[in-house]
Amino acid sequence: MEQYDYDLFVIGAGSGGVRACRIAASLGARVGVAEERYFGGTCVNVGCVPKKLFSYAAHYHDDLEDARGFGWSSPGFEFSWETLIRNKDTEINRLNGIYRTILDNNKVAIYEARARIEGPHELCIEDRHITAKYILLAVGGWPWIPDYPGSEFAISSNEVFSLDSLPKSITVVGGGYIALEFASIFTRLGSETCLVYRGDKLLRGFDEEIRDFISTEIGRHVDLKLEEDIVSIVNDNNKLDVLLKSGTRISCDTVLSATGRRPMTANLGLENVAVQLSDNGAIVVDDQFQTAEPSIYAIGDAIDRLALTPVALAQGQIVATTLFGGEGASMDYVNIPTAVFCHPNLATVGLTEQQALDKGMELDVYLATIKQLKHSLSGRDELSMIKLIVEKSSDRVIGLHLIGPDAGELVQGFAVAMNCGARKVDFDRTIGIHPTLAEEFVTMRTRRS
Ligand code: NDP
Repeated sequence: MEQYDYDLFVIGAGSGGVRACRIAASLGARVGVAEERYFGGTCVNVGCVPKKLFSYAAHYHDDLEDARGFGWSSPGFEFSWETLIRNKDTEINRLNGIYRTILDNNKVAIYEARARIEGPHELCIEDRHITAKYILLAVGGWPWIPDYPGSEFAISSNEVFSLDSLPKSITVVGGGYIALEFASIFTRLGSETCLVYRGDKLLRGFDEEIRDFISTEIGRHVDLKLEEDIVSIVNDNNKLDVLLKSGTRISCDTVLSATGRRPMTANLGLENVAVQLSDNGAIVVDDQFQTAEPSIYAIGDAIDRLALTPVALAQGQIVATTLFGGEGASMDYVNIPTAVFCHPNLATVGLTEQQALDKGMELDVYLATIKQLKHSLSGRDELSMIKLIVEKSSDRVIGLHLIGPDAGELVQGFAVAMNCGARKVDFDRTIGIHPTLAEEFVTMRTRRS
C-alpha cells in the first residue's frame, strides 16, 4: 500500500498549478489539485485573457477613427458594453472547461474546495484528511486596496470585468501594469478617464526614457494626475466624490484601484509547517521553489518573483520535472520579455539603461522616435519609441524597449535573439522588412549622445 494518497498535491488550479499537475502526471505521479474559485486562476478569469479582450475592444475605437483617412466611414457603428461582457464570459467559460479537461485527461483528482495544510504531508479539504508526498502552493495573489475613508467604494481588477454598465466616468489609481491598461481601455471605450498616480512618472522600474514617453502619451488621452493620491471617497447617491491630497476633487461613477496585488497566503494553515513568509507576505522559496518545509514547494504570484503567467508556467514545469523527472533545472530570470497592453502598447526585454549602468557597464544607446507610415493618412498624432541598449565591450544588445502598436508581438522575437547573445552587429547585418516599425530595430546607426 502507498504511504501517501498522492505523490503531489497542488493547491490552486491557476496557470502554474495546472502546468505542474499536467507535467507531474505525465511523468507518472499520482496528482491531486484543490481549487476553491475558478479553473485557470487570475490570468484566465480576471487577468491577462479578459483584459486582452477588453484591449481589443478599445483598439477598435482608434482603428475606426484611423480608417477615415483611408476613405472609410462607419455610420451607425456603436459600442455595447453588454455585448462585450457577454461574449467575454462565454470565452472565459470555454477556457475554464479546457483547464478542467486538461486535468481530467491527465487523471488528476480535482477537489473543488478550499484546502488547508495540517502538516508537512497532510491537508484537510472539507473535513477530509489527505496525505501527499509533496505539496505545491500555487495559490496566486489578490488585489490590494489601500485603507482610507471610503476605500470600500473602490473596486479592483476582480470586479472591473463584470461591471453592469460602462462607467460614464472612472478614476483609476496606480501607475503600474493594470492602471495603465485600464486607463487606456476605458478612455477608448468612451468613459471620461482620470489616472491618479503617486509618483512623478508612470511605470516605476521601467527604463526612464520609456517612462517619460509613455507618461506623455497616456496623458494625451486621460486626465493624468501625477504626484497625487486619494485621501477619501464619499458616495453621494452613487456618484463618487474623490478627494485627492492636493485638495483637488473628482466626481466619477467608479474608482478602480490598481495598487498592486498580494500573495494569498492567509488561512492556508502555514502555521502548521515550517514555511516562511517574507515581509510582503510572499512565500520564501529557494531556486528550486522549495520552501523551508522540505516537502512543500511554492510557485507563481504567491512567491516573490516576477508575477507573470509565463513565469508561473515555467516554474510549475520546473517543480514537476525536478520532483518526478530527475531534472534539477532552475529558472533563468534574464531576458524575460514583458508587455504592458496600454495604448500605445509597450514591451521590453533585458536591462533598462540605469540597470546596465548600475552593473558598471559602458554603453552605446540607440534611441529613435518614429511616426508610423499609417499615421501619415490616419492623421493620428501618435509616435512610437524604440530604444536599444548595447554593452560597448561585447557589442551585445542587453536591453530592448519599444512603445508602439503590437509591441508585445514584436519584442517576443527579439527576446529569442537576445537569449542567443545577439550583438548590435547582428542586428545591423539583418535586412529589414519594409515598410514596418520593426525594421527600425535593424537600421539604427546613430548613437544617442
Ligand atoms: P504594479 O505593482 O504593477 O503597480 C501597482 C501600482 O500601485 C504602482 O504604480 C504603485 O506605485 C501603486 N501603489 C502601490 N501602493 C500604493 C498606495 N498605497 N497608494 C497609491 N498607490 C500605490 O501592480 P498592478 O496591480 O498593476 O499589477 C500587479 C502585477 O500583475 C504586475 O506587477 C504584473 O506583474 C502583473 N500584471 C501583468 C500584466 C501584463 O503582463 N501585461 C498585466 C497586469 C498585471 P509605485 O510605483 O510608486 O510603487
